[in-house]
Amino acid sequence: MSEQKVPYKIYLQENEMPTSWYNMRADMKNKPAPLMHPGTHQALKAEELTPIFCEELVAQELDETTPYIEIPEEIRNFYKMYRPSPLVRAYCLEEKLQTPAKIYYKFEGNNTSGSHKLNSAIAQAYYAKKQGLKGVTTETGAGQWGTALSMACSYFDLDCKVYMVKVSYEQKPFRREVMRTYGASVVPSPSMTTEVGKKILEEFPGTTGSLGCAISEAVEVATKNPGYRYVLGSVLNQVLLHQSVIGLETKAALDKYGIKPDIIIGCAGGGSNLGGLIAPFMGEKLRGEADYRIIAVEPASCPSFTRGTFAYDFCDTGMICPLAKMYTLGSSFIPSANHAGGLRFHGMSTTLSQLYHDGYMEATSVEQTSVFQAAEEFARIEGILPAPESSHAIRVAIDEALKCKETGEEKTIVFGLTGTGYFDLVAYEQFHNGTMTDVIPTDEDIAASVAKLPKVE
Ligand SMILES: *Cc1c(COP(=O)(O)O)cnc(C)c1O
Repeated sequence: MSEQKVPYKIYLQENEMPTSWYNMRADMKNKPAPLMHPGTHQALKAEELTPIFCEELVAQELDETTPYIEIPEEIRNFYKMYRPSPLVRAYCLEEKLQTPAKIYYKFEGNNTSGSHKLNSAIAQAYYAKKQGLKGVTTETGAGQWGTALSMACSYFDLDCKVYMVKVSYEQKPFRREVMRTYGASVVPSPSMTTEVGKKILEEFPGTTGSLGCAISEAVEVATKNPGYRYVLGSVLNQVLLHQSVIGLETKAALDKYGIKPDIIIGCAGGGSNLGGLIAPFMGEKLRGEADYRIIAVEPASCPSFTRGTFAYDFCDTGMICPLAKMYTLGSSFIPSANHAGGLRFHGMSTTLSQLYHDGYMEATSVEQTSVFQAAEEFARIEGILPAPESSHAIRVAIDEALKCKETGEEKTIVFGLTGTGYFDLVAYEQFHNGTMTDVIPTDEDIAASVAKLPKVE
């Protein structure tokens, strides 16, 4: 099909939306290592996980053989309110960069939560409701996950308790109010409301918190309150599964015009948007049907893939959660107060970690100020104010497009634009005022937390 025929936005019809999620693990020869009990170091069984997580979600977490899992109708109906999300051809950006590359982005910021996180929040709330629970607890970093979960819980009439990383709680009071509008209760973490919070505050007085700390608190509250379970917005296999809706829609939209991407780029915090975006493409790669360059982009301040160690580690700072084998900076690593709150996690999805370890994808890290330069350049020409997290992918997409300009190659680049940055204007303000800093951990910083990894045979 000729070039001109590709519209600025490729939309799918409602009846072209995916009816099943795709589970990449089914096509992986080397499966991700199982979650392990922190005490016994044995692979966790379903019955050990169900006191913490919803039953159906545990089944999805442990399922590494079923390639397609049907999306329940209630969830599909909710998806229809804000999906399919547009796949945009960045003609204006291409023109501005004077690149022969063809750039597409999948925009997930088209809902009130402002990010892709609603795709999994609604699924998790649905399964909690189906199980007859009273409510769920969770952590949130920048606030996107907490907002998404609050929306999902209010839709299914569930109680929602959110532990919000303190630095974000203070920087983003408006996020908190959106969550409260949807009926959630929001506590800054670490807090004195939990045993683990008190312990962390004793050890690190004045800490601005981290996702790891907040997870510990939310898990404690879920396990101590009957009728509650804990839900997580990233990292876990179930979350990558739900987020596969992003990649499935992207692929369906590209297929309509016979477009095959060369490079697929996504930012990586815990790995859920990237895992979702790449899912069907990675499936083809794993089955030997096609090849793609897949690039994970992380902040230089929290470089799990590029400077971490592939080992079993705790998912939380309080060391009460299961152990996961992943690329990690160590669960005691507290990243600097980078503005991409959603990317400040010490570890990475076990599935993506295994794929990276086996050479199916690449990773790169970028510094904060260059990320905001890319964000601003993008905002000025494409009209969308991107989230700082998403702008990591923009940075690398622009860099790859500029490489094409040098070589004259007409590569097709697809990147995930995970959300909008309306609640990140303090960060934009610092960037504009020239007070933004690039804090990069030293080798010694990383070695110190990696030295504390649990000893596992
Ligand atoms: C949470 C978040 C991310 C990072 O989380 P992943 O699980 O790695 O996808 C990226 N972008 C936005 C806008 C987010 O809210």
